[in-house]
Order: sequence, then structure tokens, then C-alpha cells
Amino acid sequence: LSDRLSGVFDKLTKQGALSDDDVKTALREVRVALLEADVSLPVARDFIKAVQDKATGQAVTKSITPGQQVVKIVHDELQHILTGDEDPGALKIDNPPAPILMVGLQGSGKTTTTAKLAKRLKEREGKRVLMASLDVNRPAAMEQLQILGGQIGVDTLPIVKGEDPVAIAKRAKTQAGLGGYDVYMLDTAGRLHIDQELIAQAAAVRDAVSPRETLLVVDGLTGQDAVNVAQEFDDKIGVSGVVLTRMDGDGRGGAALSMRAITGKPIRFVGVGEKLDAIETFEPDRIAGRILGMGDIVALVEKAQETIEAEQAERMMKRFQKGRFNMNDLKMQLEQMLKMGGMEGMMGMMPGAAKMGKQMAAAGMDDSILKRQIALINSMTKKERANPDLLAASRKKRIAKGAGLEVSELNKLVKQHRQMADMMKKMGKGGMLKQAMKGMF
Ligand code: GDP
Ligand code: MG
Repeated sequence: LSDRLSGVFDKLTKQGALSDDDVKTALREVRVALLEADVSLPVARDFIKAVQDKATGQAVTKSITPGQQVVKIVHDELQHILTGDEDPGALKIDNPPAPILMVGLQGSGKTTTTAKLAKRLKEREGKRVLMASLDVNRPAAMEQLQILGGQIGVDTLPIVKGEDPVAIAKRAKTQAGLGGYDVYMLDTAGRLHIDQELIAQAAAVRDAVSPRETLLVVDGLTGQDAVNVAQEFDDKIGVSGVVLTRMDGDGRGGAALSMRAITGKPIRFVGVGEKLDAIETFEPDRIAGRILGMGDIVALVEKAQETIEAEQAERMMKRFQKGRFNMNDLKMQLEQMLKMGGMEGMMGMMPGAAKMGKQMAAAGMDDSILKRQIALINSMTKKERANPDLLAASRKKRIAKGAGLEVSELNKLVKQHRQMADMMKKMGKGGMLKQAMKGMF
């Protein structure tokens, strides 16, 4: 897949702004990638539309191809959608004992995840955790949790045969209170498919303990099915987050995108193996790369962009520090300012740049002046631009005429250029120039 994508992207090597066609060609492949990663059709369609709107017309950075740039935009948009909670790994467990309810289909990884999270809470946050199995359906399900508890040194509620799930939940609550536990985790029974009884049972347990977190555990390999399951569980029981398991397998992570787009529920953790420490907090960035199957390309694009920016800034800074700020540089700055929304855009920038903007505004510069000044610089000869000291009176008249403007306006520009060159030199010595430049590219 990656090969096919880069093949298409290699063809898009033109420079300039991204054209409609560039974007369309690249996105056709991205769409296929999404569908292959098991993203549902409507979600993929909406996604492509959003990216198309964002990408068309964007200026292409020099050392990367338009295709790579589209990939970058796609990646950023994926990450944007996938980002849910600011801190997905922070479980709400104040007011001890805090109940955490684990729900999901049979075999999704509930029991394993319960133990994984208990271990995490114990080791990372120093919490005292009590685990209770409410799985009265499957033989040995309770013993399974008990064994895991023994492995991680976390207590489990003593097993009493014949109790129903609600009675076990209530006993866990009492025991957690009496025993001074911070958290009690309820591992419920699952079914192969969602049915009335499963939902009714989970709802009854929910009502008995009012969980602080209801975590839905879904198998990340089941793709679109996982999304339907999540939707149903959330409708009927209400979930506060999703744990995607088996993300160590070859599932492409498309379920994560659909899940987030369709249910709006944050993905909090991902299971990445059978071992009890094989759980990670959800990182949109990683899943985004995985969905596209082209994490390398994205990294390359980012690297390229950074390099160009750093190189450009470095080169200019060196010149400015030496006081070599000529009319070409000024023109570039003026154009940059226009691109950034003129004087007003400048004001909101980094401290150094804002100061520069203010000085220019004080000198009576607005956007139309920016354009006139660029016209003046354009009508200078190459030599004059490189060395503004050459601008004698006779030359000035010719330049002003060439731009269709008054000599007085050119004089203002020359004065301003001198002031800026001086300022650059001073700022360069104090290191402030570097600050200001950061905002300029
Ligand atoms: P439950 O029926 O929902 O309680 O599921 P279990 O916790 O019993 O897990 C079912 C199987 O899936 C077990 O063999 C687990 O070891 C395995 N499993 C759970 N989570 C993961 C995971 O993140 N990755 C892998 N590879 N296996 C997992
Ligand atoms: Mg289980």
C-alpha cells in the first residue's frame, strides 16, 4: 500500500500551490488506504471532503512534493479527529472508593484489561485497587480474574457461588469502602453478540454502583463491527471511554477513526499484547500514522519542512546580523507581511515581530502602502536593490516614475529601510532577531 501511495505522490512533483487535480489524485489513494484500514465508508467520505477543502490552494513548501504535502495535511486532520480527551490515561478516581465498570463483548479482552488497568493504577499512582468478577455465565471466569490478581498483587473480591451480578457489585462496593480501597473495578460478563439480557444486566450493575468510569472494551481487529458495538453500548448504557484491544495485531486502526467519528467517544487506552503491562494510553499521532500506513512519509515531510525553515531563517539571520539587509530582503518581508494578513496579522505575532509591525504602523504603513512599497522596489535595478546606498536623487526620480508614485514616498521607503536595517543589526546582537525570525517563516 505504501508503495502504491508513494508512486502516486512521486508523480506530483510540480512546485507552487496545490492544484485541485493534485489534491484529487492524492486523495483518491488516501481514500483507498482508509477503506483498507477498515474506516467506514461515510466516515472516509466526510474525511476526504474535509481534507480536500483544506488542501486545495495551500502553498507548497519547496523541498517537498505536493503529494507529500497532501499526506501531511491528511495526517494532521486524522490526528485532529482522533484527539479526544486531553489526557486519555487519567481515570476519574477521586472520592474513594471509585467504581470503574468494564463492559464489552465476550472475548474482547475485558478481564485482561481490568487487570492491566489495575496494575497501572497500583504501580503508577500508588492506588489500592479491588477487582471483582461479575461474570456468572462463563465457568472459571471468576477464577481467571483471581489468578491475574495474584500475578499483579491486586486483591480480588472473594468468590461466592450463586450470587447474581448486582449482588456481587454491591458486595464489592461495601468491601471497597470497609477495606479502604481507592478504586474497585467491576469486570462484567460478555456475550458473543449484544442482546437484551447483557444490556439489562450491565444497566442494573450501573444503577447499583454509579460508576465514575464506564470503559467499553472492544477488539480493535473487528473493525466496523467494533463501531456498531460501541454505538449500541453507548446508547444503552453510556460509556465514558473506549479501550481498543489487540492493537498489537495487524489491525490497521481504522476502527479507531470510525469509532471516534461516529460515537464521539474518546479512545482512552489501547491494548498491545497479552502481557499485563501491554497497555498504553491512546496516542492519536501513532494511530494516524498506522491508518495511513505511511508514518515514514509523514516523518520525512515534517523533517523536510523543519529543515527548510531552519535553513532559510539561519541564512537570513546571518546577513541581517552583518547589517546586510537590502531592498530584496525588505521586499520579501513586505510580501511575507501581506501573506500573513498585513499589518494586523503581524501584530499578533512573536514579540520581536510585533514590535517591528508596530514601528511600521507608527510610520503610517497599511496594506495598500505595503503594495506600493513593493512596486517601488520592483522598479529598482538589481544593483540598486542589492545596495540601496546607490539611490541618488536622479535615480530616485526614475524609480518613483517607474512605479507611478511620488519621490516623497520612495524617500519614506528608503528611510524605513535604513531604520529596519539598524534595528536588525541591534536585535541580531541581542539574540532577539532569532525570536522575531521564528515567527516569520
Ligand atoms: P473477555 O472475555 O472480554 O474478558 O476477554 P479476556 O480478557 O479473557 O481476553 C480474551 C483473550 O484475548 C485472552 O487470550 C487475552 O490474552 C487476549 N487479549 C486481551 N487483550 C489483548 C491485547 O491487547 N492483545 C492481544 N494480542 N491479546 C489480547
Ligand atoms: Mg472475562
